[in-house]
Amino acid sequence: MIKVMVSGACGRMGQAVLKAVIEDSELELVGAVDLAGGADAGELVGLGKNGVIVGTDLEAVINASSPEVMVDFTRPDVVYANAVKAIKKGVSPVIGTTGLSDEEKAELAELSKANNTPVFIAPNFAIGAVLMMLMARQAAKYMPEVEIIELHHDKKLDAPSGTALQTAAMISEVRKAHVQGNPEETEKVAGARGADVDGMRIHSVRLPGYVAHQEVIFGGLGQTLTIRHDSLNRESFMPGVCLACKKVRNLEGLVIGLDKIMD
Ligand code: NAD
Repeated sequence: MIKVMVSGACGRMGQAVLKAVIEDSELELVGAVDLAGGADAGELVGLGKNGVIVGTDLEAVINASSPEVMVDFTRPDVVYANAVKAIKKGVSPVIGTTGLSDEEKAELAELSKANNTPVFIAPNFAIGAVLMMLMARQAAKYMPEVEIIELHHDKKLDAPSGTALQTAAMISEVRKAHVQGNPEETEKVAGARGADVDGMRIHSVRLPGYVAHQEVIFGGLGQTLTIRHDSLNRESFMPGVCLACKKVRNLEGLVIGLDKIMD
């Protein structure tokens, strides 16, 4: 049994992770932390009391519960500090929180090596989203004119989504950076053409009702190709999260992307 603690345990994703970890026979929920502490983790997710009380101090929870893995679904502005605290205590972070900067990821990679504590980050834990990204990279070799539309619920803090940025990064591995659209085009309203990553445009939609969705649209002569993925609920991420909890201790350094640990 791998000992797991959950950071951001009372949030939308955190609660889904609590449930998934409790129900996975190879994982043991030993700790939970959230700004809103005090609840019994099992009771919080409707599985009955399990004696794991959600704490409010990350280091105190680590000291009390000796986890091997910390799953983090908190906020873009706190995930880095959480990960640093965990790594320094030899606990492997499995990070789902999006919004880490490239500099922060580089620092986590250094820290991971220095403390001999592997770290795993996935911008998207849903298998279908990983396939969407792999297929988009493949398609971009042949259809390099591409735009991304990502659609999320209106509580999301960061834009573009981590998935959209990861998709763009993977497409950039096979597509030369170049300006798309009319070189003479102007925006009558700032932002109308979306964010610009290597000339690819990314559009972020935020509306109630959505969970996490993305379309990658390729355009060619007389044709378009659309690759779309929809996470319809937060359970879609749980097989990926549990897999990462089981694999992270055997990784080396910082590993990014679910595709790196899928068989
Ligand atoms: P949420 O707001 O519902 O939950 C965040 C929780 O973190 C809250 O309960 C909050 O109290 C808690 N929190 C805030 N600061 C904290 C701290 N310092 N220590 C401990 N807990 C703290 O958000 P959410 O919808 O669950 O999303 C969380 C993150 O996960 C976001 O960054 C989101 O983009 C990301 N996300 C990633 C994936 C993926 O597959 N990688 C999927 C969905 C969401």
